Amino acid sequence: MQYPKSLEDLIVEWMKYPGIGRKTAERYAMFTVNQLSKETVELFAQTLLDAKSKINPCKVCGHFTDLEICEICADHQRDGSKVMIVESSKDVFTIEKSGTFKGLYHVLNGALSPINGIGPNELNLFTLWTRLENQEIKEIIIATSATQEGEATALYIKRVLQNTDILVTRIGYGVPVGSNLEYADDLTLVKAIENRRVF
Ligand SMILES: [Zn+2]
Repeated sequence: MQYPKSLEDLIVEWMKYPGIGRKTAERYAMFTVNQLSKETVELFAQTLLDAKSKINPCKVCGHFTDLEICEICADHQRDGSKVMIVESSKDVFTIEKSGTFKGLYHVLNGALSPINGIGPNELNLFTLWTRLENQEIKEIIIATSATQEGEATALYIKRVLQNTDILVTRIGYGVPVGSNLEYADDLTLVKAIENRRVF
C-alpha cells in the first residue's frame, strides 16, 4: 500500500538530506504528522526559511553569517596576519571549537575536483586573491582535507602563491589521510595546527 501523497512528498523531502535514507525519512515524516503540534511544524518551517534567507557568505572570507561581515572577520583582536584556508564553514566551526587558532579564515566552499567539474572558478578563490592584495597577510595555512581533492586544492594555492613573500604552510598530519577535518577530535586538531609545516 502506498502512503498518501502528502506524506510521500514529505518523505521525499527528508531524503534530500545527507545520511537520511528511505527508512529514516519515513520515521521523520511519521513523527512530523503524528507527534508534532501544528505550531511546532510551523515554527520549524519558518526556521528553515529564515536560515535559508538570512545566512549568506561573509563578504570577506566566505564563512556563514547573517551579517555582511562575519563575527570572526569583524573581530579586531584576532591575528589578521594569518589566514587559514578551509573547504567549508563546518571546518571553521570545528576549528573554533578546539580554540587553537586565533587568526582569520578563508572558506573555499569546496575543493578542486576536475571529474565533478569543479575548477578554481567554482571555488571562493577570487576573494582570497583580493584579500592578499588588500590585507597584510604573512602566513596562509592550508587546512583543506587530506583527500585527493583537498591535496589538489592545496597544491594549486601553493603554486599561485609561490612567487610571493607569503609563508604557505599545510596543517600537520595528525589528521588521518583521506579524512575531513570534521572527524578529527580537538586534540588531533590542536596537534595538526601546531605541527603545520612549510609547504
Ligand atoms: Zn568573514
